[in-house]
Amino acid sequence: MSNIFDSHCHLVDIDSNELSVITEQLSNLSLLSVSKSIDDWDKTLELGRLFPNILPAIGIHPWFINESSVENHLGSLKSTIALTNSLSMIGEIGLDFDSKYIHSKEIQIHVFEYQVEVALRCGLGISIHCRKAFDEVRSVLGSHNVSRAIMHGFSGSYEQAKPFIGLGCKLGIGTQLLNKQSTKYERLVRQSPIESLVLETDAPYGKHGQNLSHYDRLMVIAKRIATIKQLDVAEVVDMTYASAKSIIRCE
Ligand SMILES: [Zn+2]
Repeated sequence: MSNIFDSHCHLVDIDSNELSVITEQLSNLSLLSVSKSIDDWDKTLELGRLFPNILPAIGIHPWFINESSVENHLGSLKSTIALTNSLSMIGEIGLDFDSKYIHSKEIQIHVFEYQVEVALRCGLGISIHCRKAFDEVRSVLGSHNVSRAIMHGFSGSYEQAKPFIGLGCKLGIGTQLLNKQSTKYERLVRQSPIESLVLETDAPYGKHGQNLSHYDRLMVIAKRIATIKQLDVAEVVDMTYASAKSIIRCE
């Protein structure tokens, strides 16, 4: 088995049976486990301490911004980072301007920018959630000269991806690719350079391939990329692994 990298999953939300299967696969599997809110941080960091190939990321996701406590939580983010030397990334953070979340647009931008600045100060990369906010995310990344970022579950077209690729960001390619109906997503993969792609399951939230083990789910995504881009699967696994490693702190 080759070594494969899951650049985005939520291990704290995975049930304990599945988690024990994952921990048995860790000799061939590295995972970035991201957080959604302050409630996830301790458990995520703990998993990182217990298992060498589980790499922890902490941050505040735009859906989980609580306006009354967010300043406190941002302060806690800084103090938690100061107390740990094993953090691999800041995430999942970002902007979501879907109608359900647009009411918090201003505070989302503030919280996102704050966390981007924290990441830069700590020399950490960023795992980004971006929905209906491509221009705004790009402008925050551009104005802060961010290059070490992964656009998790990137859902746009290649035209929309180009400016992010130009900044040096990677695109997280997930189980959506297993839905053969999704020709738009297939086109994104075909047109983007392989050097800009990383694999992700977004487990337990990735919609397709739920019947497969974590490792196998990543392998079938890699196989689909290989077919679309007419490459060897091993090449896809190795290149996406190297790309993830270039953004995510792994020691
Ligand atoms: Zn996620």
